[in-house]
Amino acid sequence: MPGVAGTFSILIVPALDTPVMYVRGVGPRVSEMLAAKGILTAEDLLYHLPFRYEDRQNPRPLDEIQPGEVASVIGEVRGSILLRTRRMPLFELTVGQGNRALKCIWFNATYLKDKFHAGQTIAVHGKVEPSRSSSTLKMIQPQFELLPDASDDAETRLLEVGRITPVYESLGGNKLTSRWQRRTIYNLLEQMRGSMPECLPCALLERLNLPDRETALRNIHFPPEGTSLAELQGAATAAHRRLIFEELFFLELGLELKRRRMRERLGISFATTDKVREAIREVLPFHPTTAQKRALGEIVTDMRGPSPMRRLLQGDVGSGKTIVAFQAMLVAMENGYQAALMAPTEILATQHFLAARKLLERSSRKPRIVLLTGSLDDDRKRHVRGLINRGEAQLVIGTHALIEEKVEFDRLGLVVVDEQHRFGVLQRFKLMKKPNQPEPDVLVMTATPIPRTLALSLYGDLDLSVLDELPPGRTPIVTRRVAGEKADEVWGFVRKQIALKRQAYIVYPVIEGTGDDQPELDFSHDPEAAAEAAPVPKLPRKGKTANLFPLAAQEAIPAGKSGLKSAVDMYEKLRKGPFAGLKVGLLHGRLDADEKEIIMRRFQRGEIDVLVSTTVIEVGVDVPNATVMVIEHAERFGLAQLHQLRGRVGRGAAKSYCILITGARVSELAEERLNAMVRTQDGFELAELDLSMRGPGEFFGTRQAGLPDFRVANLLRDRKLLELAKREATRFANHPDSDLPETEKARVWARLKEAWQRRYGLVEAG
Ligand code: ADP
Ligand code: MG
Repeated sequence: MPGVAGTFSILIVPALDTPVMYVRGVGPRVSEMLAAKGILTAEDLLYHLPFRYEDRQNPRPLDEIQPGEVASVIGEVRGSILLRTRRMPLFELTVGQGNRALKCIWFNATYLKDKFHAGQTIAVHGKVEPSRSSSTLKMIQPQFELLPDASDDAETRLLEVGRITPVYESLGGNKLTSRWQRRTIYNLLEQMRGSMPECLPCALLERLNLPDRETALRNIHFPPEGTSLAELQGAATAAHRRLIFEELFFLELGLELKRRRMRERLGISFATTDKVREAIREVLPFHPTTAQKRALGEIVTDMRGPSPMRRLLQGDVGSGKTIVAFQAMLVAMENGYQAALMAPTEILATQHFLAARKLLERSSRKPRIVLLTGSLDDDRKRHVRGLINRGEAQLVIGTHALIEEKVEFDRLGLVVVDEQHRFGVLQRFKLMKKPNQPEPDVLVMTATPIPRTLALSLYGDLDLSVLDELPPGRTPIVTRRVAGEKADEVWGFVRKQIALKRQAYIVYPVIEGTGDDQPELDFSHDPEAAAEAAPVPKLPRKGKTANLFPLAAQEAIPAGKSGLKSAVDMYEKLRKGPFAGLKVGLLHGRLDADEKEIIMRRFQRGEIDVLVSTTVIEVGVDVPNATVMVIEHAERFGLAQLHQLRGRVGRGAAKSYCILITGARVSELAEERLNAMVRTQDGFELAELDLSMRGPGEFFGTRQAGLPDFRVANLLRDRKLLELAKREATRFANHPDSDLPETEKARVWARLKEAWQRRYGLVEAG
């Protein structure tokens, strides 16, 4: 019987998991377009929220609006004209309100030519600018929507005018407009009226004074009369708060469960006998700071416990993370286990290797330390692998090669890993141990100062130790900004410092000049990380994030046209010119590992005065005698990167300097970054600023940080709700047998499973 299926599907009330194809007004073709936007089910569509709202109940009169405001205006189409200027066609539309008028202008908009006719009602939204005639205002490239008139059906009128109207980002083409979404979502909400299941416990909602899910979704899409427009725009209505809380609650609940599951797994219970303590004490070259003692205490407590450690050690550049990690590794070795340290680059791996050798010379045990990096030749690799496999090497330091070379440890006890490796790597440690052995402990180190609440969520499945104190005797780094024309004075200053037996870094954004511009990368042995760190340069995103990407990662530099000074060119120029007679070295990511190592060692031993480099020296390089960091084209670097680079100096007792040389054009946002660098040296303050300028997604790099893409929440904006969600999630997980009805508990777990499978699949720590 043809037709039955159709009738049937209309009669059935859609559920949240109904494929979006069966939602009224969608169908197979549209559902494909929606799938491209990640909208697969009725629920996905309902959680696609308006990105702004227009008050069409009480539209603002034009004569109330001041130039400079961003406003929504409703008026009548008076006339339009397509102007052919020499550069491009301009489409100009006059929108009238009584005796006032607003001129709307779109560039290159020939397609608008036949769209309007006099008498239509239109809503436009954009920044209002003054115009030459005093009774007229102007809007450039506003968003617009033609409003229904008396000839349209009642439902359309109901959704579009005389109310606070939701505006959605287009979901594709010119079909899935705001209007289409309003209608489709409205119909869906109507069909589901009274049938939408709740996913949070009712008692919880009551206690927190949050609306149920259905009410929240209805009010967020179609705000009731009287809702504050400011609260709507700020995502602060009860409806918004409810949906944000929901999203964060399930994130936190999932993280809490992960931590619990980890606690149930079998790890190694290391012993800390007097002998072990003595072994640690004997190698310490200085008195640890209070923060270092505390962090080590926390780490050792975990190591003694029966479940595997998963801990994050967070500390600003120079806070002394390395020594804490070495001490933890000594605990493992003293217990007869092997320890591994994985660094993000060969330079750092080598530096750690040398530091470990120096440090452990003092140890009475004299453990065997090996270095394994991708650039070793095959024979050497095989040899090192053998030493590790037979347990003849106790301390293994390396790069990603440790995983790639399929190293199997004899008795792996502790892995220390740089944060850059965290994701996609932690699970693989299991491959590095022999079957039937307990899981090694893992310590992740990060120099990214993350505000504590964010750290707790982003690394929520890790426990957190913070080094919030610098070793004593450091003097603040003097940071100055200098225009490019004054570079000669800077070189003069550098010479004076060298005369005082100090050393200097000069950093450039690219390796080589014209025709071969290439932002620095040092992921040569980790193609995946390289792909992540350096996506194909994209067009700048809309809005204010455009100039903010750190250079190496995102700034598009057209080959040969960047006009940027490069490390290779400047090395030649400086060596022959301003630094003639000094020992000048060159370091960049395209040198092979041996060359890099030789240069770094010579710099460390003071055989090089001035090291011309790219950002390859960025993280972790430790040469206390270096007191000057000069960064050319400083406007091109991201804030985090500038801070990391500056952290390469000020590591000894002598006064240090960071000189930021800027090029000709400095964007407003670059100004802000540079000013912040001059103003403060506090990594947490800079991180907060960076975060607020870039948003969490860009700040952490969604993929790199394993940060889920939130549908509603914004970690920066919603920090308070995040803390609340965390508290409530822990409470829920800890009291599963509270007096909640079983059905409510069951639906929380069901929702959790689904949310984690679909949305947070990325957060995965083995
Ligand atoms: P980061 O946290 O950036 O990795 P490092 O571990 O490289 O910092 O330490 C920075 C410098 O401070 C190193 O030269 C290190 O030897 C020194 N250092 C670390 N802890 C102390 C301490 N407690 N007292 C004195 N110097 C220290
Ligand atoms: Mg370090």
